[in-house]
Amino acid sequence: MKLFDVYPLFDIEPVKAQGSWLWDKAGQKYLDLYGGHAVISIGHSHPHYVKKMEEQLEKIAFYSNSVKIKVQEELAEKLGELSGYQTYNLFFCNSGAEANENALKLASFHNGRKKIIAFEKSFHGRTSLAVAATNDKSIQAPVNSEHNIVFVPLNDADAFKKAMGEVCAVIIEGIQGVAGIQVPNNDFLKLIREECTKNGAVMILDEVQSGYGRSGKFFAHSFADCRPDIITIAKGMGNGFPVAGLLISPEIPSKHGMLGTTFGGNYLACAAGIAVLDVIKDEKLMHNATAIGNYLIEKMKTIKGVKEVRGKGLMIGIELEFNATQVRGDLVFKHHIFTGSASNKNTIRLLPPLNISKSEADIFLEGFSTVLKSHLQTVA
Ligand code: PLP
Repeated sequence: MKLFDVYPLFDIEPVKAQGSWLWDKAGQKYLDLYGGHAVISIGHSHPHYVKKMEEQLEKIAFYSNSVKIKVQEELAEKLGELSGYQTYNLFFCNSGAEANENALKLASFHNGRKKIIAFEKSFHGRTSLAVAATNDKSIQAPVNSEHNIVFVPLNDADAFKKAMGEVCAVIIEGIQGVAGIQVPNNDFLKLIREECTKNGAVMILDEVQSGYGRSGKFFAHSFADCRPDIITIAKGMGNGFPVAGLLISPEIPSKHGMLGTTFGGNYLACAAGIAVLDVIKDEKLMHNATAIGNYLIEKMKTIKGVKEVRGKGLMIGIELEFNATQVRGDLVFKHHIFTGSASNKNTIRLLPPLNISKSEADIFLEGFSTVLKSHLQTVA
């Protein structure tokens, strides 16, 4: 059997990883500033993570959610403390898309409405909102109809207010990732909060990519000092082990049968999640994300060929004055540095581990300036 070919692959086979580094089967070392779509939050194979996972595996790996699973409570407790959402309730699932589908379903249960407001160029996973994932009409599934979904330009207060009314939910990314790192204004987030409260709509913050300390705060929306009704989490939560969840306001009551899951919150997923929270807290990784992020952003702004640098902490978009595909390829194949792409083809995404060091950041800056310089010489 062959693999279903739906995304492009680099012809590189990583066989080992440690911290911010990957090794391929020929022993070549790569600096990983992408972490497999923003997943690697505490670095590859962190010793505390490996220990926690091994200890859990020796005890029990899986049983269904028909029994009390103590590690779920431990994770919820630690997550509440670190995120500042102690009064919220946690529902476990397995991926970002699943978290967002559940959030929309929950919102609809809560107020009985259908219309959803989302933002142009946003990405919430392969959900019923994914109509805008591509401009290629040949791969837009009719089943994902735009019915009941209204897309509004990000940070456009007037368009948003016009679309508001008898709305079920407004869903917004803490920072748009796939779009190439577009940051919502603090005032815009506050406006959404106010309008949702006024209209009885549910405010859903998709922190799947921007959460878990990546922005320098536990959640990117915390910069705006507003509290959504539901927050979705995944990616960095398990540092590579599939685990996701919803933080749900106490204003939204639970009822048996409302949501359900087979794998969500299994023992191993929770062990991974607990280890990640321990390391973020003990190693002060949010502080590191802010410090190294600011350093990278300031340095990159001075490099010729860079049009704009956007982002917060270690969620950074570098928009070039030209298509970035060749630059990313040169970074991987000539300098052995992984970065990410974006739907905006001129933008490179950096989503490194939150414990990346300054010397590792310097290795990237050196490689990046060399690649840009030679690219600009070639086109001159
Ligand atoms: N939400 C956001 C903001 C994302 O960036 C992604 C994935 O890139 C998802 C949801 C979907 O997550 P998953 O691939 O785990 O379903």
